[in-house]
Amino acid sequence: MSDLSAYLPEIPGLPGLFVRNIYAIGRNYAAHARELNNPIPERPVIFTKPLASLTLDGFIRIPSFVREPHFETELVAVIGKTGKNIYREEALDHVAGYGIGIDVTARDIQQELKESSHPWFLAKGLDTFAPVSSFLPADVLPEFDKLTFTLDVNGERRQNGDPSLMLFPLPELIVRLSRYVTLQPGDLLFTGTPEGVGLLKENDHLHAELLSGRIVLDVRVKQSG
Ligand code: ZN
Repeated sequence: MSDLSAYLPEIPGLPGLFVRNIYAIGRNYAAHARELNNPIPERPVIFTKPLASLTLDGFIRIPSFVREPHFETELVAVIGKTGKNIYREEALDHVAGYGIGIDVTARDIQQELKESSHPWFLAKGLDTFAPVSSFLPADVLPEFDKLTFTLDVNGERRQNGDPSLMLFPLPELIVRLSRYVTLQPGDLLFTGTPEGVGLLKENDHLHAELLSGRIVLDVRVKQSG
């Protein structure tokens, strides 16, 4: 294998693991699907965010053509072991650790794309639209469904996440995804946002916590011109 460390970012908190792909799940909490007037999906809604969207420096930069940038706070799992057609009972063995991330979404662009049945890529994949925290190894944390999280914007609580309410629990997401793609060490999986998504404005301060502060993510919003 080539030396990925030469060009891929190392995952903070998990030395030796480098970000490969960024997979994400849409509408994985019923209350969030309802707040955007979307149907409850029968199968997971799966999309990717490009590496260009990853940001580790604490800033989201919003281009001026985006009119409705939204925050979506999500539990992020890191894959630690290669797998294809993974069995459900073994799915969590493939998870190296957990962190928290914001799946920043240009809601206005996404709405246009949905209406024309186009992929969500241009709404989800912009530069800096995937800030992530440091990660902790799975073996020092409870199982995924206990990893509750919160988001405060400018000091006000906006989102509460309880992964036990996922429509498609993490093991099922891993099973599904691995039918289509070989999951690889360093792949990130954004597992969907709970209700409470909302608009971002310049200089907003986002403060997300996993397990009441075991993992913390602080991000500031900038207009990128
Ligand atoms: Zn999302």
